[in-house]
Amino acid sequence: MSDAIRLSVRNIRKSFGTHEVLRGISLDARDGDVISILGASGSGKSTFLRCINLLETASGGDIVVDGEQIRMTVRKGRPHPESRKQVDRIRAELGMVFQSFNLWSHMTILENVIEGPVHVLKRPRAECIAEAEALLEKVGIVDKRHAYPAHLSGGQQQRAAIARALAMKPKVMLFDEPTSALDPELVGEVLRVMRALAQEGMTMLVVTHEMSFARNVSNRVIFMREGLIESSGTPDEMFATHTSPAFRQFIGHFGNGQ
Ligand code: ADP
Ligand code: MG
Repeated sequence: MSDAIRLSVRNIRKSFGTHEVLRGISLDARDGDVISILGASGSGKSTFLRCINLLETASGGDIVVDGEQIRMTVRKGRPHPESRKQVDRIRAELGMVFQSFNLWSHMTILENVIEGPVHVLKRPRAECIAEAEALLEKVGIVDKRHAYPAHLSGGQQQRAAIARALAMKPKVMLFDEPTSALDPELVGEVLRVMRALAQEGMTMLVVTHEMSFARNVSNRVIFMREGLIESSGTPDEMFATHTSPAFRQFIGHFGNGQ
């Protein structure tokens, strides 16, 4: 693990109309960091990840991915990324996994996984297929490569979505409640894949309600409340002492991840 900062977020703000959803969030993710982001529904967790990968444009603040700052400009009084090309390049460096899988339903699993490498990165198809098969093997669904998403369980679809994100060789993986839409018996198979990724040194930001993941896999825990980082620390600091009353109250609803 090196100390390189893979992702740096400085004082990110985001408003929808008059509603200020993010009120100044700063965070550095170093190579191999696994950062769990906890917080009640509506605290701004999804908006935070969506601002990082530019699905939303932050109202203020800076985002730096692997040393490259996203250049912003103002048009009609609102901030906009200056360069579409830069946005596309940076977005390709950030793998995103959503609660709802978001696979292309009209494509097989293999086609889903090679789509980005072939069409965005313009890499040779045969090479992409070989890599995709290796990734599907790794997440345990290579036998499903010619099936369509609708024929897979939720857990298999989410593992396919992880393989699809990894096929772009991202510098940072962003997960937004990857197990929240799954039947309880399918949660473990997805968490196992995520844990393996963490152990390989992938840099990850994970919005989750899985306290055991936050406690046992991540090396940093961030608790968001009303658009701010209310408290943060190592899992031991957060769960053993959890000095913040708001965090204590929050984890009271979920158990403490033991
Ligand atoms: P979380 O993921 O922590 O549940 P979100 O980031 O989804 O929180 O939402 C934070 C707040 O921002 C909520 O009040 C939500 O209603 C609001 N919000 C999110 N997206 C939009 C949007 N596109 N337009 C208006 N309000 C939004
Ligand atoms: Mg959310």
